[in-house]
Amino acid sequence: MKEIIQLLNNNKEWARRVEIETPGFFTKLKKQQRPKYLWIGCSDSRVPANQITGLLPGDVFVHRNISNQVINTDMNLMCVLQYAVDVLKVKHIIVCGHYGCGGIAAVKRNATSGMLEHWLENVRVSVRKHKRITLNEMCELNVKRQVENLAHNTIVQKAWERGRKLYIHGWIYAISDGLIKDLKVTQSGAHARKHHRS
Ligand SMILES: [Zn+2]
Repeated sequence: MKEIIQLLNNNKEWARRVEIETPGFFTKLKKQQRPKYLWIGCSDSRVPANQITGLLPGDVFVHRNISNQVINTDMNLMCVLQYAVDVLKVKHIIVCGHYGCGGIAAVKRNATSGMLEHWLENVRVSVRKHKRITLNEMCELNVKRQVENLAHNTIVQKAWERGRKLYIHGWIYAISDGLIKDLKVTQSGAHARKHHRS
């Protein structure tokens, strides 16, 4: 149990430090959250959204799952997406994958089983289509696919049709050097808005 007690002690120390650095930080946060960003990332413990982007509590709404999948029948993600877009009114949705993703590697090796086999079905379809693709290329392609899925999602489409400024970005993180690369596949719904106006 020592390792669990350590976490609670860390927490006390962290809260104390934050309050010293920024007096009133927690009382201000208690009133409301106004994050500008929704982060959809991999559950991998080495890719924590806040730390790698230098964001504080209150800055980013986070959803993480294995291999950062955007699946339109995933109730969990759909609720997160709807809340982020319609209630919190985030301006940016970031899909952030990472090189060497274990989920994608397992699909490539044909080593998934049980629930994971179902969860990563879309990755499997892509891997089958691109037989010679390397793991890291597949990790990038996976992010691009999820950006496309989001761009076609009804929650996002409706926001764009209402004229909302909402950007979807595709990023990939390298665990080996801690750096994020922008895959430059940002979608802004310019087409949907133009269509709406005409
Ligand atoms: Zn991963």
